[in-house]
Amino acid sequence: MRLARPERLVIATHNPGKLAEISALLEPLGIACIAAGTLGLAEPAETETSFAGNALLKARFAAEGSGLPALADDSGLCVEALGGEPGVHTADWAETGAGRDWAMAMRKVENRLAALGPGASRRAAFHCALALAWPDGAHALFEGVCPGKLVWPPRGDRGFGYDPMFVADGEQRTFGEMEPEAKHAISHRARAFAKLVAAWGG
Ligand code: IMP
Repeated sequence: MRLARPERLVIATHNPGKLAEISALLEPLGIACIAAGTLGLAEPAETETSFAGNALLKARFAAEGSGLPALADDSGLCVEALGGEPGVHTADWAETGAGRDWAMAMRKVENRLAALGPGASRRAAFHCALALAWPDGAHALFEGVCPGKLVWPPRGDRGFGYDPMFVADGEQRTFGEMEPEAKHAISHRARAFAKLVAAWGG
């Protein structure tokens, strides 16, 4: 698939961590990123049951609302021993009613694993689906996976979300301990982006 590379893209996320990562990945390509929030676009409810479904829903909403091509990311952590949970509910596990608490969300994952006993697998993977949508309804989807394992206690104060408890395969440090550039080189989001950039002709 070969896609025309846009000069401007609405980034359909209200998550500052993701916005920073996505802008850093697109900047070298000379694509101007416009945050959905600065256009006054609302955040649609993520009602789909897959990362791809939710990414597409968000990208379509932003493309229709702005009249510009839009890029959305839906991502999350899938823990093998928990049957793939929290999966599309990854952000919900951090919800407190008064904002998101990632330390609490990580503890929840750890407690569920601990409840399975010491032999439970600690394998997990971050998943990322990227959806590109145009105001005329056209769309494209790209997916990336970063497999690894969960550690406890959490380590490092970089990154966001579940980064401090995730060690990617082949690494010693958690995503929370790695320099952003090192994480960007191997992350689920970087892998999905590599496919998007290849579709733009590299
Ligand atoms: P959503 O894609 O906005 O539904 O949120 C997915 C959630 O997955 C994020 O809020 C993060 O908590 C988590 N997540 C996604 N990517 C990463 C990552 O690279 N590091 C840590 N947590 C992540």
